[in-house]
Amino acid sequence: MRTSEIAKRYLDYFSKHDHLVVPSASLISPNPTTLFTIAGMVPFIPYLLGEQTPPRKRMASNQKCVRTLDIDEVGKTTRHGTFFQMLGNFSFGDYFKEEAIHFAWELLTTPQSEGGYGFDPEKLWVTTYTDDEEARSIWKNEGFDPEHMQIFGMEDNFWTTGGPGPGGPCSEIYVDRGPQYGKDGGPAADETRFIEIWDLVFENYEVDNVKSKTDLHIVGELENKNIDTGAGLERLAYLMQGKENIYETDEVYPVIEEAERLSGLKYGENADADVRFRVVADHVRSALMIMSDGVRPSNVGRGYVLRRLLRRTVRSMRMLGVTDEVMPHLLPVSKNAMAPSYPELETTFHEVSESAYAEEDAFRRTLDNGTSILDVAVKKAKKEGTDPVVSGKDAFTLHDTYGFPIELTLEMAAEQGVKVDEAKFRELMNEQKSRARADALKKRHNVDLSVYDDFKKTLEAPLEFLGYTEYSSRSN
Ligand code: ATP
Repeated sequence: MRTSEIAKRYLDYFSKHDHLVVPSASLISPNPTTLFTIAGMVPFIPYLLGEQTPPRKRMASNQKCVRTLDIDEVGKTTRHGTFFQMLGNFSFGDYFKEEAIHFAWELLTTPQSEGGYGFDPEKLWVTTYTDDEEARSIWKNEGFDPEHMQIFGMEDNFWTTGGPGPGGPCSEIYVDRGPQYGKDGGPAADETRFIEIWDLVFENYEVDNVKSKTDLHIVGELENKNIDTGAGLERLAYLMQGKENIYETDEVYPVIEEAERLSGLKYGENADADVRFRVVADHVRSALMIMSDGVRPSNVGRGYVLRRLLRRTVRSMRMLGVTDEVMPHLLPVSKNAMAPSYPELETTFHEVSESAYAEEDAFRRTLDNGTSILDVAVKKAKKEGTDPVVSGKDAFTLHDTYGFPIELTLEMAAEQGVKVDEAKFRELMNEQKSRARADALKKRHNVDLSVYDDFKKTLEAPLEFLGYTEYSSRSN
């Protein structure tokens, strides 16, 4: 079943159960504390908090999400994308735990020939919150095998906004991929074999004193209890399509095939190369979707995240042996794979591709200029000690003269098993800033305006990515 069909079945199912289906909101988060929309519930926050009246008490969506926090997992686990789609059904003071569990169970286990997903109930596991006896008894009444239920504490199975407000226990649904993928013993034992596909959050409490994930105070029951659920579309797709991971599903894999063609290498033959193929497929798609929602590469905020995704793509392709331009090949392939679900990509593509190709050109020049200088610095470091460290001065020269960002120096040095004296690098950067400030002072008739420059920088600085912890039940 294609990814788009899996999404359609979800939305059809909930539409049949009186949910108002709404299109995905933009990836640019409407919430000022997060750069990107990180979960299906983000556009519904005003309804969940009771600040606005929803158009209907039951709603559902397939929301585009970006989670940069998962970037280091990409390509290495089977289940983490920087971009992914989260299916969700929501109840704002309407149905609660019993229906939410029933809906999930019915959709997952109804045979595919009858419009469901056709999961074998024996392959499903659920987790519930310690005190949530009610959820366990509802699952049992649905016919769920009690041996496949596990109990987790507040850290894993209790959701809050991160501050005073609504909160409540959750129940996560997992699929067992089989003994060839790891240890027996459910999600508590092995997160590679047991894959989380759907998180049901039951918001029934008002909480305050949220000091940490495990130290909060339940004030009382909410008058309007909400349901907020999130199911990972790519995770459902890879499990239902019998693939090994989310990168091999129909909306992502064509980019791996194109990268194979460009590199002359075969996916599936070398573990390190395979990670790079998967990183490329993931990042190209994320960049495409982020740019289509209006973001352009820059040195701050979302633009910086985008820049890193594009640069990591180019570098990963270099590690696969491709030094020529890659974006003009990879980006159209990703667009063609995604456009059936997101037709607006056809309209935005001209501008998106121009900007992505220009970014690649600029980065290729940076790489061409700096790579040999970095190689010399790494060689020098290796000669000098058993625990080799690229000097702060070399890292500074790379930055200052060759435009090599420190993150790139760190990443490329680490690939060769070498550290970088970051402290010295920062010291040299600060010295340079002070010099520049002194020069500016002279030019500004001795009036020190540098304080405004600093203030401006704080406004422009990349925002710290806080939202994940605020809106997710898991600290990950
Ligand atoms: P995990 O612990 O496996 O990273 P999570 O607890 O962070 O998942 P939630 O925040 O509960 O996930 O998100 C709801 C659903 O969205 C998950 O059950 C999963 O199916 C999907 N999901 C979450 N993060 C990702 C990701 N980076 N890539 C693909 N799907 C994801």
